[in-house]
Amino acid sequence: MKVKVLTIFPELFPGFLGHSLTGKALDEGKWTLQTVNIRDYAFDKHGSVDDTPAGGGAGMVMRPDVLGAALKAHYTGGRLINMSPRGRPLTQKLVRKLAMEDELTFICSRFEGIDERVLEAFGAEDISIGDYVLTGGEQAAQILLDAVVRLLPGVLGNADSASEESFENFLLEYPQYTKPQLWQGRAVPAVLLSGHHQNIKNWRLAQSKQVTEARRPDLWKKYLDSEKNLV
Ligand code: SAH
Repeated sequence: MKVKVLTIFPELFPGFLGHSLTGKALDEGKWTLQTVNIRDYAFDKHGSVDDTPAGGGAGMVMRPDVLGAALKAHYTGGRLINMSPRGRPLTQKLVRKLAMEDELTFICSRFEGIDERVLEAFGAEDISIGDYVLTGGEQAAQILLDAVVRLLPGVLGNADSASEESFENFLLEYPQYTKPQLWQGRAVPAVLLSGHHQNIKNWRLAQSKQVTEARRPDLWKKYLDSEKNLV
């Protein structure tokens, strides 16, 4: 997968994506990363990329002419993603779709965001990583990319490890335990040490259901609906 990122802080990349599984995948060429400094496309000698909002109000807005020039030079097709709290919420389902693309281009902005006209002109889609506000799109793009890159072929060591995780089948994951068997008076649940695979599976499913119902009524409802459709 080919990834391009337009930003005024190219030095923030690859950031944590350069470490661990995503970093190894980058070294191995399972994905490539190109950053573009939007400031290189500024017209004035100060390298201005933004200006005051039309209609007044706080903050600064990225200019369409500067970002447009950067996009014209570097956007060569595929999905064009603008990280924004106004966007479509990022879910594991969307992550799986994005992981099947050959090329993703990200626009990362700061301040109040971007002049809407340039987003329209290039057909950018807005994606949000959650209902809270960050200082910049770079953090959001890295989180999205972290979730996508781990699903690329050959990135996760164990091919199974993605299929039983939280959000697959609308359930959160069951709790995990490791050694020692007894820690500060707390024992690993006996069923996990039984070696009885069906019992372990049943216990994990029951735990998943319990935690999903308690913590995420929205997911729990989707799970119950999906079960209904199976009958
Ligand atoms: N005034 C804007 C928020 C600007 S935050 C509003 O109310 O919608 C500055 C930048 O950080 C945004 O342009 C976006 O690129 C990024 N950002 C902030 N929160 C985000 C989120 N939840 N998801 C994705 N990007 C986000």
